[in-house]
Amino acid sequence: MLSVIVPAYNEQENIENTASVISGILRKNGTEYELIFVDDGSKDDTWNIIAGLSEKDPSIRGLHFSRNFGKEGAIFAGLKRCTGDCAVVIDCDLQHPPELIPEMLRLHDEEGFEVVEAVKASRGKESLSYKFFAKGFYRIMKNSSSVNLDRASDYKLMDRKVIDALNEMPERITFFRALSSWVGFRTTQIEFEVAPRNAGTTKWNFRKLVRFALNNITSFTNFPMQIITWLGVLFLLFAVIISVYSIVKFFCGQSLEGFTTVYILVLLSSSVVMIGLGIIGYYMSKIYEEIKFRPRYIISIDTKDKERKEQNRSNGENG
Ligand code: UDP
Ligand code: MG
Repeated sequence: MLSVIVPAYNEQENIENTASVISGILRKNGTEYELIFVDDGSKDDTWNIIAGLSEKDPSIRGLHFSRNFGKEGAIFAGLKRCTGDCAVVIDCDLQHPPELIPEMLRLHDEEGFEVVEAVKASRGKESLSYKFFAKGFYRIMKNSSSVNLDRASDYKLMDRKVIDALNEMPERITFFRALSSWVGFRTTQIEFEVAPRNAGTTKWNFRKLVRFALNNITSFTNFPMQIITWLGVLFLLFAVIISVYSIVKFFCGQSLEGFTTVYILVLLSSSVVMIGLGIIGYYMSKIYEEIKFRPRYIISIDTKDKERKEQNRSNGENG
């Protein structure tokens, strides 16, 4: 059986259409499936629509978060609760073409690939500044942690083994796109063109994206911490040169003029120390977040649990 995991945040215009498109494709393909919508604490009608659909269609299951925890949490909640032999993670706005699922399944079933990644053939329509920051982010990630994410997306099919491996990851701050390639396994890729959003608007803003990028860089590489060391070395060299210069000048009968040098040195070195402390502080805060062992998400309603309860109740009445 295949589990399809769809994270959704304020997607009321999309749920019904997405559900019928994906169901249609899978039915036509003769696949046994469950469709899990993870409502990431939406503020609109998303959850009511999901709950309604799940009552009508037993292959649709809804998970409802107690608040907005972010897409990462939604994906991992879906992976934790899904029961399929393999799972596909797909966006709710149909930017990830669901027509690819049968082909991904074929690669899994017939050719024995354990991970089938859909990679972007091109990066779709993005603003110039977005492109610039995305490029920088991917370059840092690639050079320092050897996970190449330039064309990667969250659209993936994973075997049960991979799902279990991901579920065993203890960390709180997760980056699904990188973790799913970090775990390894037999992987292949297929290309897709990013479709325009079906309805609604993107759920990201600049602040969210910057936080996302910083989280991911710090959880995958210690490279920023090494910058401090190198800056320190650079300043030591600088200090040695200035000292030698002033000693030579002193023996020639001149002392180096004024406080200017002192000012410059104090300012430079203190700024380096502050940058260094900042970077260390950032990593420390991440460590702090991790060791609190808070859950990645809190599920307030699971339509499957509700069904089970009702079943138990009616069994009790009958017996
Ligand atoms: N999403 C989510 N929680 C969030 C933000 C987004 O579950 O806090 C979901 C959203 O509903 C969609 C997917 O993540 O299914 C991708 O979001 P979006 O289309 O806004 O991102 P983009 O395609 O612009 O990168
Ligand atoms: Mg989208």
